[in-house]
Amino acid sequence: MQIIVTENYEEMSQKAAEIVAEQIINKHDTILGLATGSTPVGTYQKLADMNKEGKLDFSKVKTFNLDEYYPIKNDDEQSYITFMKENFFSKINIDLANTNIPNGEATDAEKECKEYDERIKAAGGIDLQILGIGQNGHIAFNEPSDELDCYTHVTGLTENTIEANSRFFDSIDQVPTKALTMGMSTILSAKKILMLISGAAKAEVMAKLLDDKITTSVPATLLKTHPDVIVICDKEAYEG
Ligand code: PGA
Repeated sequence: MQIIVTENYEEMSQKAAEIVAEQIINKHDTILGLATGSTPVGTYQKLADMNKEGKLDFSKVKTFNLDEYYPIKNDDEQSYITFMKENFFSKINIDLANTNIPNGEATDAEKECKEYDERIKAAGGIDLQILGIGQNGHIAFNEPSDELDCYTHVTGLTENTIEANSRFFDSIDQVPTKALTMGMSTILSAKKILMLISGAAKAEVMAKLLDDKITTSVPATLLKTHPDVIVICDKEAYEG
């Protein structure tokens, strides 16, 4: 893993946007893996600014998001599809038909998951995957556990994640308890991975990324097995 430490969130977002932009400039039909959460919002804004200034073109880019709550209506204000439209897709010249998010409205969740992996494969695989990290070390909704799933699957959310995500809802009872998420192999199949980490609350998990161990109790540590991972973290996350 290559680790880049930045002064602050702003600089982390700038560096990340530059890496994503370079990828798209080099390959106009890049397959981009996208994440939700607070951390990548600054990166999305900077990419949108580059798009607006005519420096970056998303017209041929295809995207696959990591996960979606389940079940949830697409137009629910807390769905990840709504989040992506508000924070990114509405601000860039991407064709919405080229954006993919696991369908929280699917009646057959298992089938939706299987088809999602097939769609990624048919597109040629993810060129660059943007990732955040949970305080408990989860990536997407792959939560700490003795065993982790390889492919896109239905999963239950841990108490820690439900609590962390409750800040977006009126009450903790409204946080969905399940999700559809890419699995560890789906994520590790990306050709390049860009992980963003910000804030002192992530310092403990950051330290686990820096040590020499891999454990399913901190799913993000499996990224250490991938040959091309860039972690961009701000000083607060790095130093605690
Ligand atoms: P956050 O979420 O960016 O809102 O901290 C990250 C995650 O849970 O993956």
